[in-house]
Amino acid sequence: MNESAHVAEEVFLGLGSNQGDRLGELRRAAAALAAHARLELTAWSRIWETEPVGPEVQDAFLNACVAVRTDLSPLELLDELKRQEAAAGRAPGSHLKPRPIDLDILLFGGQVIAVGRLAVPHPELRNRAFVLEPLAEIAGTIRLPDSGETIDEACAKIRRKAGPWVRLYDGGDLQTQVPGANKEERGAALALYRR
Ligand code: AMP
Repeated sequence: MNESAHVAEEVFLGLGSNQGDRLGELRRAAAALAAHARLELTAWSRIWETEPVGPEVQDAFLNACVAVRTDLSPLELLDELKRQEAAAGRAPGSHLKPRPIDLDILLFGGQVIAVGRLAVPHPELRNRAFVLEPLAEIAGTIRLPDSGETIDEACAKIRRKAGPWVRLYDGGDLQTQVPGANKEERGAALALYRR
């Protein structure tokens, strides 16, 4: 198969950081995605500060979601995200441990994917307020391709559960480091996705 022959899909990514310059890591990741020749960054959420999940005591995360259009295949995109994580200094095997950057594929068009190293929609998406809150900002009306539920509905459900805390972060946003980003473009991009 020619990996370059895919039609462009709308993809939603989750970004997280809880090590080092957390805001800088998120901004660098968004800028790197925007700079990629085969990725177009079309929308981005605000930044949320969230309680870490997992067995280890560790610092709070900053989390955000972005929308991209890409003609990369799902596995090509996963490889690119892993490459960016490694470039940011993420140690292999740091799942649920402190990390400078974590990049996840949340939704890939309307596709349901289950191959060895990639599951889409992301298997933990429905259980994580730190994913659903920022994702609802840019994809609230989009339906999960497996269950048919909207992101808004999934988010409302998680709000009713007493899970780890999430709150809006007021120390900065992704926007300033995204090439070409300005208030009008951001507004127009967000309007495409808002409820
Ligand atoms: P993580 O620790 O969150 O980076 O995830 C570890 C592994 O999960 C990755 O190396 C991927 O192979 C696998 N994985 C499965 N589904 C996904 C997905 N939707 N997005 C990112 N990684 C995924």
